[in-house]
Parts: sequence; structure tokens; C-alpha cells
Amino acid sequence: MAVKTVRRPELTFWEKLYLPQILSGLKITSTHFFRNLFLHTAHLFGRLTHLRASATYQYPEELRPLMSRFRSRHRLTRRDDGSPRCVGCMLCETVCPARCITIVPDEHPDPHVEKFPIRFDIDLGVCVYCGYCVEVCPEDAIRMDTGILDLAAYSREAMQLDIHELLDPELRKPLAGCDLDFPHQCQLHEGELRGSWSPSPDS
Ligand code: SF4
Ligand code: SF4
Repeated sequence: MAVKTVRRPELTFWEKLYLPQILSGLKITSTHFFRNLFLHTAHLFGRLTHLRASATYQYPEELRPLMSRFRSRHRLTRRDDGSPRCVGCMLCETVCPARCITIVPDEHPDPHVEKFPIRFDIDLGVCVYCGYCVEVCPEDAIRMDTGILDLAAYSREAMQLDIHELLDPELRKPLAGCDLDFPHQCQLHEGELRGSWSPSPDS
């Protein structure tokens, strides 16, 4: 197979000085600055209100309004009695392209409901925020409408949401205890809920 050599173009004298690029950048920045200054001043006097001026959001203290279709951190929706709407059908786990959902279903005590999750984990460190899990769910049991954007954590383990954090998006690890009152499995290690779902000797 023939190999075509592509020569990297040499910079001209003016390009090596970078002055034209710096001046060009300053021109763009100054244009935006004076345009916004002029428009915001005009808006104060009720003039030119049909022209929008840029505004700076003081993130993270001030959050920018999110579009209704924006996909933020997941949550599990609840029934009236506080139990999850999820019926453990495994569709979301099956469709997830990142393989980051883990569900362990069990028989539901109500004979009209087939199953419910005793374990429901989502690894946000792997999730690609495609929203397939929300779209495929037949029960409207999982949504991505919490508006929570701050997903940084100090460890990979902290990026893994379990059923407690999914049912109550305000919770953050480490969880000191479990207050969910539907049948499910939680394991405490030295007084802290670690998200371990296998029997532990000190539980
Ligand atoms: S948003 Fe996509 S990648 Fe993330 S858990 Fe749902 S299906 Fe998986
Ligand atoms: S698709 Fe919905 S009902 Fe089925 S396991 Fe996922 S969250 Fe639960």
C-alpha cells in the first residue's frame, strides 16, 4: 500500500510572532465585552430589550436553569407506600450499553406485583448518560431528572450509587444506616452502610 507523506506547513514569520493571533483574540473578547456592557446598560433604562446580552452564572453557587430533557443523575421513583416502583424486570440492566447497572430482584410480598429489587446499583464512573435505561423502563421507575450535576468523588466506590442513594438523591456516602422500610437486604460494617450485599460477619 502506497504511503502518502503529508508535509506539515511551515509557520510564516508573522505566524511565529503570534501577534496577529493575539490581536485577533483581543478584538473578539473586546467586542463581546463592550457589546454586553452597552446592552446591559441599555436594559437598565428599558431600551433594546429585544436584544439579549450574555450573563455569567456564578457556578456552583448559582445553577444555570436546565432544559427539561437534560439528563442528570438517576433516581428511582417510589409508590405511595415508599417502596420502589421498579418491578425488577431487568430491561434497563439488559439495554445499558455500559453494563453499569446491577439489579438483584426478589419475589414481591404483594401477589399483584411480580418482583422488586433487593439491590439496585448504578456505577456512575462507567455510565455514559445515554438515557436508555429511562426510555426502556415500562414502569417509569427510573428517571434522570434530579438536576444533580456534581458527580465528582474521591474514590471509584463513591461513584457507585446503591438503592438508598437512588431512592433518595440527597443522600451521600457514607450512609450511617438504612431507613428503607420495604423488604430488601442491607449490610452494616462497623456502623456504616457500605453497599455490600453479601453476608458479613459483623452484620
Ligand atoms: S444512562 Fe445509559 S449508560 Fe447510564 S445507566 Fe442508563 S443505560 Fe446505562
Ligand atoms: S426497566 Fe424499570 S422496572 Fe425494569 S428493572 Fe429497570 S428500573 Fe426496574
